[in-house]
Amino acid sequence: MVFISCKEQKEKDVVIAEKVTQPIIEAPSIKTPLETKDFDFPVGKPKAKGYYNAQAFGENYHLGDDWNGTGGGNTDLGDNVFTIGNGVVISAENLGGGWGNVVRILHKQDGVLYESIYAHLYSIVVKEGQEISKGLKIGTIGNADGIYLAHLHLEIRDKINMDIGGGYSENTEGYLDPTLFINTH
Ligand SMILES: [Zn+2]
Repeated sequence: MVFISCKEQKEKDVVIAEKVTQPIIEAPSIKTPLETKDFDFPVGKPKAKGYYNAQAFGENYHLGDDWNGTGGGNTDLGDNVFTIGNGVVISAENLGGGWGNVVRILHKQDGVLYESIYAHLYSIVVKEGQEISKGLKIGTIGNADGIYLAHLHLEIRDKINMDIGGGYSENTEGYLDPTLFINTH
């Protein structure tokens, strides 16, 4: 299965993500996260200052947002990426293919669990099981080992621990519009 995650390959396959409903927490090291009061954008805190969303949720069946620096090209390569809210790191690893380095974070707000996913990272500075607070640096913007121009692919899900998927799909079950979510939560 080829994972197609971002803009440069958008015209190719639209991979239908496997909708595997799994237990919320598989690894014994993952705790239920502390509540988060609110969320912020993962770049240019506060509120994505100096960045723009180059491919919004739903555009070309995109399942996330693509954050780019306003300088364009690779000017944002190595810029800081922050967690959008308090949470616990579910996983932090290189998934290869079109994903590269990926961090997945579990959040809880008003008793409801959400997951945020940060893809194509140049570096990762958190580890599985780590409890983190909103705005903490989790890594830096990358290019999935040279596949894309540097940008951050961000997904937010309300079905926890699904398969990583393909980044694009007509089926959005379990996926939320990240910008809408952050602005309203
Ligand atoms: Zn993307």
